[in-house]
Amino acid sequence: MQPTVERIPDDLLRRFDVAGPRYTSYPTADRFVEAFGADDYAQALAQRRSGAAALALPLSLYVHIPFCESLCYYCACNKIITKHHDRATAYLRYLSREVDLHTALIGRGQTVSQLHLGGGTPTFLNDGELRELMDMLRRSFNFAPGGEYSIEVDPRTIDVKRLDTLAELGFNRLSFGVQDFDPAVQKAVHRVQPAEQVFALVEAARVRGFESINVDLIYGLPQQSPESFDRTLAQVNQLRPDRIALYAYAHLPERFKPQRRIATVELPNAAAKVSMQSRSLAAFLSAGYVYVGMDHFALPDDALAVAKRQGRLHRNFQGYSTQPDCDLIGLGVSSIGRIGATYSQNAKTLDEYYDFLDQGRFPVVRGLALTRDDILRRAVIMALMCQGQLLYESIELAHLVDFKSYFAAELGTLREMAQQGMVVLDDAGIQVTAQGWFFVRALAMVFDRHLQTDRTRARFSKII
Ligand code: SF4
Repeated sequence: MQPTVERIPDDLLRRFDVAGPRYTSYPTADRFVEAFGADDYAQALAQRRSGAAALALPLSLYVHIPFCESLCYYCACNKIITKHHDRATAYLRYLSREVDLHTALIGRGQTVSQLHLGGGTPTFLNDGELRELMDMLRRSFNFAPGGEYSIEVDPRTIDVKRLDTLAELGFNRLSFGVQDFDPAVQKAVHRVQPAEQVFALVEAARVRGFESINVDLIYGLPQQSPESFDRTLAQVNQLRPDRIALYAYAHLPERFKPQRRIATVELPNAAAKVSMQSRSLAAFLSAGYVYVGMDHFALPDDALAVAKRQGRLHRNFQGYSTQPDCDLIGLGVSSIGRIGATYSQNAKTLDEYYDFLDQGRFPVVRGLALTRDDILRRAVIMALMCQGQLLYESIELAHLVDFKSYFAAELGTLREMAQQGMVVLDDAGIQVTAQGWFFVRALAMVFDRHLQTDRTRARFSKII
């Protein structure tokens, strides 16, 4: 479904700007339990090996590189700040052991159609280390031609020459962490990267034929104002990346220690944040971007926008994707994986991660075996978030439930949202409206059983 709305009124943004998860998984990662551990993960992998999934569906890989040279004050990621690049040597050795544990169970040569290197800062690794990592992965897995192979790039850690290495190693998608081009904002968050540097890198990446270039932006940062952010928006439109991810900064200093370095008085107030959000939507839509959903925009001919038009969008831990739902192996400290009807997460500290691998065990410390209800609700949430519509019959056939009675309470809530123009309900199913697409997270939250009783929603970043 293609949204045709060009401007979302501020009062709607304000009304639906409630706290909520991003639904890169359902149930969300905060529901994982320690009762699910390394042995459960090994069992899920063994089941994959014996099941049809191993033959039919390719794998997705996520590799977490936790190191960063310097601290961005808004950071909420799992990272290790260090200038000691030799720490990468040991880390790569342990990553290799973790991969070996996998191939011992599922065999070498499993097809991979999607790889994402995230962090931290993946480009903390030098060219030789990146090559070593990719060689190791290619020895263990079979990378399908035409797959999505992406890497997060910190513009401060890379020059035009390094782009050649990334292209040569098979990466075809780059994601640049920009956040804001304004020098005062960059200084306030301790991440100074001149706009000219980013423009030069993006230009060089285009010349080298990278298929898709993404830029991450954040609004709500210290020293930002709607007027200053307008200038950044204009620069981003001039840069014209294929994809834009626009996130709201959630100031949670009690939870994320680096954020304590941000002076609260420098933060824009709620009204200014709403204004930045609404101006961003207007700026990107009028520049011809398609609103893919949940903070993401893409140029009309980008694969993500095409998939959206064709109802082929999917969602995984990296956000929206064109790749069909497949099992995801998460490698590295704190990584999350999804195998069959399970989720798992690795140890969050290096010591613990190394310790598990020294014992020859998967470094999984928590996870979840999904119940039938979880799987059903996941299907409903993903249908709303990816296709913008849901046919009762298709859910009923796949999950053997009577939709209207199983979800009677949820449909009651949706009827209220229908009056506000977010959805259309009829006998056959639910259709998200063009306007509702901008609030699809709020619609998904209606079906989140865990959230319905949750009193700690403030933990999550703001919706949209
Ligand atoms: S925002 Fe990214 S680059 Fe900055 S400290 Fe966090 S993980 Fe590192």
